[in-house]
Amino acid sequence: PKLFIFCVVDLLMATNSPISVFWFRRDLRFSDNHGLFQALRSGSPVLPVFIFDRNILDKLEKPQDRRVQFIHERLTALQQELKAVESSFRIFYSSPLEAFQELTHAYTIEGVYTNHDYEPYAIERDELIKSFLQDKGIPLHSFKDQVLFEKDEVLKDDGTPYSVFTPYSRKWKQHFTSSTCKEWDSISLLNRFVKSKNHSLPTLEEMGFESTNWTYPAQVLTADVVKKYTDQRNFPAIPGTSKIGIHLRFGTVSIRKIAAYAHKMNETFLNELIWRDFYHMILYKFQQVGKGLAFKKAYDLIEWRNNEEEFAAWCAGQTGYPIVDAGMRELNATGFMHNRVRMITASFLTKHLLIDWRWGEAWFASKLLDFDLAANNGGWQWASGSGCDAAPYFRVFNPALQTEKFDKNHAYIQQWVPEYKSPEYIKPIVEHDFARKRCLETYGKYLKGD
Ligand code: FAD
Repeated sequence: PKLFIFCVVDLLMATNSPISVFWFRRDLRFSDNHGLFQALRSGSPVLPVFIFDRNILDKLEKPQDRRVQFIHERLTALQQELKAVESSFRIFYSSPLEAFQELTHAYTIEGVYTNHDYEPYAIERDELIKSFLQDKGIPLHSFKDQVLFEKDEVLKDDGTPYSVFTPYSRKWKQHFTSSTCKEWDSISLLNRFVKSKNHSLPTLEEMGFESTNWTYPAQVLTADVVKKYTDQRNFPAIPGTSKIGIHLRFGTVSIRKIAAYAHKMNETFLNELIWRDFYHMILYKFQQVGKGLAFKKAYDLIEWRNNEEEFAAWCAGQTGYPIVDAGMRELNATGFMHNRVRMITASFLTKHLLIDWRWGEAWFASKLLDFDLAANNGGWQWASGSGCDAAPYFRVFNPALQTEKFDKNHAYIQQWVPEYKSPEYIKPIVEHDFARKRCLETYGKYLKGD
């Protein structure tokens, strides 16, 4: 049987007929996929390709990573769906360049299709692949798919990018019409995939990871959550938010479908999707933020205390502040943290403990199921004050007041820090009033007039 598998070659490869390639990245779905739609309409059969990129995977903590497992599960499901049209993914575990070297060697490729990715690493990667393909006379076609309005679509009247959310969102809404959410009918074209026998998927173990029994938030947006979102979204004890983040991150749902629904049902929810576009635009137009720099330069002068023991206590949910500890424990246990609590924990790290926001950003990046560079960076820079349209530096969240407002009955705290009332519970690692004063003095040294 092994010999048989090795002898099986794609029909088209054997005859050397030209094909197109669709390169899946943050768009792991067949329906309403813009780049895939364009590829399937290109006229040549389309080879679906995914690359487990070693430039990324080799930097992750092994053997368990919830996101890698999520991608793997999703690809396994898509591979199964491809059987119905007698096709199969070509999946690589390599660098993108190595994958394209192999593909261009094995096939006559007319064009490579993909969807835009706006992160700094992705931009460099795509430039590299584009010029590699160009040398071989193969065009790389890329399309907008993961956001509603991208880089240059929502600008001020003078053509410069917005750095404040409210006027951006106003302009965004002026641009929004029913055609913004027009679906791309890629699903009806799936029989245009290259016919091939089953290519195998590398196992998680072959890539140095191991499979666990994580469960992931459902892929559906419930009407109840969206309808009640305005009233419920701030209370972490209530399942009042969509938890759709991981699916938007990996494109297992289409942003257009989600936005069309939000537009019909609830403007507050739509606004959150606009924040997502906003941070993607910021990351693209102000690329320094994705490379470790503060949006507001003065914040890079702050002398962070960066106490490693306090950082470890924050990571572990052992600060003695129940709402902070609940959030960090929820994150570590599930890969999710409620937005309100993300704001509280991030403010606590950067203001109470005076630890560099980049440390917190990296911790969230390693844990969040919905980790997204644009939104995570935006959230951290917002909390520390260094970002565009950020919380002013003198706004220091008081964890006790936040608890009073958003977890009045301590239901959320009770769930994650059941010992919070007992003598065993750790004493606060820093006193609130002292920390607030220290923060204002430290930030204030550099940020007069901010
Ligand atoms: P819902 O409240 O149901 O919102 C629906 C969707 O809207 C979200 O899934 C997300 O795609 C988008 N959205 C909502 N709020 C924001 C926002 N403030 N900025 C950008 N998009 C938003 N969001 C991420 O997607 N990835 C991150 O890595 C991330 N890191 C964050 C770090 C910090 C410090 C903070 C303060 C916020 C961060 N956010 C991040 C934004 C927000 O917390 C999450 O999008 C939200 O909590 C995800 O839960 P949900 O899917 O239930 O969101």
